[in-house]
Amino acid sequence: MILKLKLKRVRQLCESTRELRFETSDRKNLDYEAGQFYRFSFEDNEGLFQRSYSLGNLDDLYGPYLDIVVSKVDGGRATQLLFNAEPGLKATVTGPHGRLVLPADKPRHLFLVATSVGVAPYLPILQKLKNEAYERVDLFFGVRNREEFIYREFLTKYAENHSFFNLKLCISREDAKEEYEHRGYVTDLLKKEDPSPEGTIFLVCGNPKMVEDVWSYLTSKKFGGPQVITEKYVFARDKTVASTKLTEAQKKLIEEELQKYS
Ligand SMILES: Cc1cc2nc3c(=O)[nH]c(=O)nc-3n(C[C@H](O)[C@H](O)[C@H](O)COP(=O)(O)OP(=O)(O)OC[C@H]3O[C@@H](n4cnc5c(N)ncnc54)[C@H](O)[C@@H]3O)c2cc1C
Repeated sequence: MILKLKLKRVRQLCESTRELRFETSDRKNLDYEAGQFYRFSFEDNEGLFQRSYSLGNLDDLYGPYLDIVVSKVDGGRATQLLFNAEPGLKATVTGPHGRLVLPADKPRHLFLVATSVGVAPYLPILQKLKNEAYERVDLFFGVRNREEFIYREFLTKYAENHSFFNLKLCISREDAKEEYEHRGYVTDLLKKEDPSPEGTIFLVCGNPKMVEDVWSYLTSKKFGGPQVITEKYVFARDKTVASTKLTEAQKKLIEEELQKYS
């Protein structure tokens, strides 16, 4: 499915992170599963290019809006465009893509593991979980410092109001102060918790190195592949994103759509 979009709103979440709300051109409602991502096509002075972003919709899950949470990368092409973007910026998307979604059979214990903007797909997932009577859900959220604790208000309130949910903020460069804070990486806390594979499912998203470390640890603990669902935020030039590459026909269609639209 190809959708045409216009940038509607920009919010700076912290120095390195922006939330951008795009609206579908004909206010068409979204059809995706919480946790999935879209592949965006943008146009800058050098021409068309594509990047993938998870949907981080929090207050309107299935309306005409695509909310994405973007982290600044030095010298990055999308960073240059999106960190200078004003409402009205045009884009197209294909999707939804991805397997980072709630499992069909509810596990006894669900772990959500993220670093930085890897928390984005868990925002709609947490909204969905409100109606799904899970026994226990733990979010391990890795940041370098408290400034990077995006969606703090939503996550701390959610933890206060939902007894099934435990928030664990892993801070690598500052000491822990709050009850929910832990000094170190998400992998350090995971090893301390020593989870049992019995009735447990993991969703893991963000920095590729963290995702690989968590995967290696869990498989060494006899977790089976289907119990650990991962999404790596690999860079666009990395060959591992080839599975979401567009066909020549799709590329042509997007180019035509963007031209019509500009
Ligand atoms: C499935 C999927 C979902 C994704 N979802 C999100 C999301 O929700 N939010 C988000 O911010 N990003 C997400 N990404 C990453 C995103 O697609 C871009 O790669 C990212 O925004 C950087 O793009 P850029 O054009 O600014 O940098 P590029 O122009 O692609 O890269 C510039 C330079 O920086 C290096 N580089 C790129 N990214 C990083 C990095 N993170 N750390 C260090 N060096 C880097 C590159 O190797 C290159 O040398 C996702 C990626 C995938 C595959």
